[in-house]
Amino acid sequence: MTVTETTPAQPDSAQAADVMALAGELAAERSKPEWRTFSLELNDEQQEIRSWAHEFAASVMRPAAEEWDERETTPWPIIQEAAKIGLYSLDSNINLFIDPSGLLMPLVHEELFWGDAGLGMSLMGTGLASSAIFSNGTPEQWSEWLPRCYGTADDVKVAAFCSSEPGAGSDVSAIRTRATYDEKTDEWVINGQKAWATNGGIADIHVVVASVDPTLGSKGQVAFVVPKSEVKGLEMGTKLRKHGLRASHTADVFFDNVRIPGKNVLGGKEKLDARLAKAREGGSSRGNASMATFEMTRHIVGAQAVGIARAAYEFALDYAKGREQFGRPIIENQGIAFKLADMAMEIDAARLLVWRAGFMSAALMRGEQPNYRNGEGSMAKLKAGEVAVKVTEEAIQILGGNGYTREYPVERMHRDSKIYTIFEGTSEIQRVVISRAISGMRLR
Ligand SMILES: Cc1cc2nc3c(=O)[nH]c(=O)nc-3n(C[C@H](O)[C@H](O)[C@H](O)COP(=O)(O)OP(=O)(O)OC[C@H]3O[C@@H](n4cnc5c(N)ncnc54)[C@H](O)[C@@H]3O)c2cc1C
Repeated sequence: MTVTETTPAQPDSAQAADVMALAGELAAERSKPEWRTFSLELNDEQQEIRSWAHEFAASVMRPAAEEWDERETTPWPIIQEAAKIGLYSLDSNINLFIDPSGLLMPLVHEELFWGDAGLGMSLMGTGLASSAIFSNGTPEQWSEWLPRCYGTADDVKVAAFCSSEPGAGSDVSAIRTRATYDEKTDEWVINGQKAWATNGGIADIHVVVASVDPTLGSKGQVAFVVPKSEVKGLEMGTKLRKHGLRASHTADVFFDNVRIPGKNVLGGKEKLDARLAKAREGGSSRGNASMATFEMTRHIVGAQAVGIARAAYEFALDYAKGREQFGRPIIENQGIAFKLADMAMEIDAARLLVWRAGFMSAALMRGEQPNYRNGEGSMAKLKAGEVAVKVTEEAIQILGGNGYTREYPVERMHRDSKIYTIFEGTSEIQRVVISRAISGMRLR
């Protein structure tokens, strides 16, 4: 059965109350000082959660990776297995998110993407939509929509975050999808086309960034929740065939006079009206919804890239110890050993940047640290993405002819790694963000 044929699980008030209760309980428990101290020593709970994710990655994801890469379809059975142990769930996401050290999220992502990136994205793609709801929505909207992003272990769902368009990738201010408010019915009417949406069209919950006032550019944009099962006019376009991350579904999504209730605007209409009024007066207003989402998730994406790089490095290290040429293991040649030394060092450097950005993001949410002054979130994503591409390429080199074939996993890892210099802000755009941050100038 495909996801579009199923009826979504409706959150009842008990479920909504559970979400709030769990978040409150975890926040109280983790207000202890030891949770607020930066240390490279992970505490017991962090190590336990990391091992839990590692175990799933090693026993479920790794053995299935090649099959789903070849099938190029959404791995529903793997998502269901992750849901059964609670790894794919809203509770798990809250658990990772409510962490004053900011490390749990990157730790778990690194492990899952070490297991396999295509499967990892199928499990974690929903997080982009749920983070958008979390960062832009009201508590009532969290309770209404967040449980529906994940469904239940018996009826799993995925969610999609739709910002990019054919003419608006790096330049989100060029978004043309329009949302107009129909006062008579208290509904928003959405028209437009979204591109490259992870889980687009197979999700029920679509978080859609649209312009409500094109004259304001990105300040006139806001995110809406569009539940596919409750609307007419939302259609999946072409499902894209990709270079890597082939187990993860990516597609265009079309919105043709899609009507949603007025309350589905994230943050609420009152807040939106106030923001628009301020922008029209020429005053500063909060940045657009998609940029806020990207900033919150950049280091997490970096952690995924670190996971891919680590997997390729470990494979290449073992191979180099076992493969003999000229009567000795190839690792005994400095030409190979030095490559591995550089790979190990670069992975650690990338991880440290990811952890720093994670720590800053958690501190920032507590209001304890200044903003990302030097674009630290972008630094983490940029470094990790480029390390993943370089390390996986070197792993192919170390495996020689074998590395270039589909008989060995480093070829897949290399294909998977490339997206990390493209999505969630290309490497060039990350450099623009960092350059602006360090210079204070409006660099282009
Ligand atoms: C597998 C996959 C999954 C995705 N998932 C999602 C998703 O879930 N939701 C979503 O909204 N989007 C998603 N995307 C879209 C992704 O975020 C965009 O592809 C990305 O932002 C780049 O936009 P673009 O492809 O239009 O490239 P362009 O913006 O056209 O860029 C092309 C090239 O020009 C460079 N460039 C552009 N502007 C500048 C500049 N000012 N300075 C220097 N160089 C510049 C870029 O760095 C790049 O090298 C996904 C894409 C893929 C491939």
